Amino acid sequence: MVKIDRGKGYPKMLAKTSSEFKRRISGMTTKEAYEFYVKNKKREGFKYKTDETRRRFKKINYGRCSFCTKIISEFDDEMTVEHIKIKRDYPSKIFEWTNMLCACRTCNNKRGTRAFDSAKYLDPTKIEDIDKYFSYRLSGEIVPNDRLSDEEKGKAQYMIDMYKLNRRTLINERRKFMEDLMQDEAFYNLLKKKEYENAHIIFLSLFTYYKKQRTASYNQIFGA
Ligand SMILES: [Zn+2]
Repeated sequence: MVKIDRGKGYPKMLAKTSSEFKRRISGMTTKEAYEFYVKNKKREGFKYKTDETRRRFKKINYGRCSFCTKIISEFDDEMTVEHIKIKRDYPSKIFEWTNMLCACRTCNNKRGTRAFDSAKYLDPTKIEDIDKYFSYRLSGEIVPNDRLSDEEKGKAQYMIDMYKLNRRTLINERRKFMEDLMQDEAFYNLLKKKEYENAHIIFLSLFTYYKKQRTASYNQIFGA
């Protein structure tokens, strides 16, 4: 996971939908409000995945999933909206921009409807140094960074488990990337200079790679 900057301002249409929805569910219990949403979303046009939110997510996420950080191909069709606080338990937050993250279909499905734990959930739009929580093994596995406190490690593990960030395809892709890096002379020399075994350096390299990719995809998307 990497830091995501939500940018300025609240998507306008979403703000309208949110306040209208809150008006309609006011006085209802959580259960009633959720049932109201399920029953009326189509008829009343209560939508959070709109052109407006898609555009915003494409921009702030550079076309990537907030969790596995892979580029979402066919972004407009394939992106999904992940609710940090799930809809069933927090119906009043269904249309809140700050409760929404962009996810690939797989990460979204992996979480399913698992409840939100405020003591453990790492929100990449709120935690400035979120990348420090994770480190990568040469095997392609993502693991909590060794240098963290036990509490922080618990949070990292919670996110890895919740979104199944060690699923087979991701491990294979990361390992392939590590192998490519290892064959890169310049990179190899850099590692040698800075202690080959240092997991943190490997992480930094991986991050730099993702950063570069991110810039590339940004250019692709926006033609900058
Ligand atoms: Zn994903």
